[in-house]
Amino acid sequence: MTSRRKPRPFDRIALIGIGLIGSSLARVIKKHKLTHEIAISTRRRRTLDAARKLKLGTSYHMKAAQAVKGADLIILCTPLGANEAVAREIGPRLKPGAIVSDVGSCKVSVIKDVGPHLPEDVHLVPAHPIAGTEHSGPESGFDTLFERRWCVLTPEDGTDEAAVNKVADLWQTAGSNVEIMDAEHHDQVLAITSHLPHLISYTIVDTATELERELQKEVVRFSAGGFRDFTRIAASDPTMWRDVFLSNRDAVLEILGRFTEDLTALQRAIRRGDGDLLHERFTRTRTLRREVIDAKQADTDPKQRQK
Ligand code: NAP
Repeated sequence: MTSRRKPRPFDRIALIGIGLIGSSLARVIKKHKLTHEIAISTRRRRTLDAARKLKLGTSYHMKAAQAVKGADLIILCTPLGANEAVAREIGPRLKPGAIVSDVGSCKVSVIKDVGPHLPEDVHLVPAHPIAGTEHSGPESGFDTLFERRWCVLTPEDGTDEAAVNKVADLWQTAGSNVEIMDAEHHDQVLAITSHLPHLISYTIVDTATELERELQKEVVRFSAGGFRDFTRIAASDPTMWRDVFLSNRDAVLEILGRFTEDLTALQRAIRRGDGDLLHERFTRTRTLRREVIDAKQADTDPKQRQK
């Protein structure tokens, strides 16, 4: 009974969506006993059965509206394109004072899609754990995924401070470094650090798949020359990434414009045999690599990189 329970940060957490990120969170929440109940909901029966088999929650629901009943924290772990429909479904069922958060890779769209469907007395604290793999589904999650990774929170001005702190505490317990940022700024930063690299990877790998069969075989054989790293990123979930580009369209188009200009400049330098320009650009970029290493954001052990 509730009165005899030892206090925990939350009484009931509802996870809507239980793929890589949702199931990793469920594992963290269980491991650190952050709540008494974990209510899980997902779209397909098959995924719900997998979550049950993995014992990720305490109750399992095909309807998000059921999972959120009585929950004091609800975390949307669905693709960005599903947020609005989910928010519309759960909005009327949320208990007063509940916190709604998410894990989406873009933040402006989450505020736009989810915010209008929440009652006044519910707090929206959007979050983005900058951690992931190219795998999907409940089996692919693990409880150390968020360790030593950033988690960016983008609450709007005036959001209840206690609610923000509770979400921040959860991510810190997961091992993340928490940063609070304006949603628009987040989307601009991620456009260059994550979204553009994914778009480039998808493009390079797609270009290779268009090559004639013989050449393609050689691409696979000699892929360790750099191509391999792009194939890992380009194996990321197509639904998730479709939604990322549709959700962060403006920031991605802005950075893509700059990128294509820079690429054209390099193309021209190669055509003209302008070695000085190429050398100057390739030297400049080494400085940024050094900064990434100094910020402990890169794996510098060559043995680790082979994995
Ligand atoms: P995932 O492994 O593919 O899991 C997605 C979950 O959402 C599944 O439970 C799926 O349900 C459910 N879902 C899919 N479409 C839905 C819809 N239309 N309506 C309701 N539920 C739906 O995805 P993920 O990698 O965990 O990504 C989830 C979120 O995390 C995304 O917003 C993404 O931007 C963000 N994120 C991902 C990463 C990453 O590296 N993967 C990193 C940071 C943030 P069914 O299986 O039942 O269909």
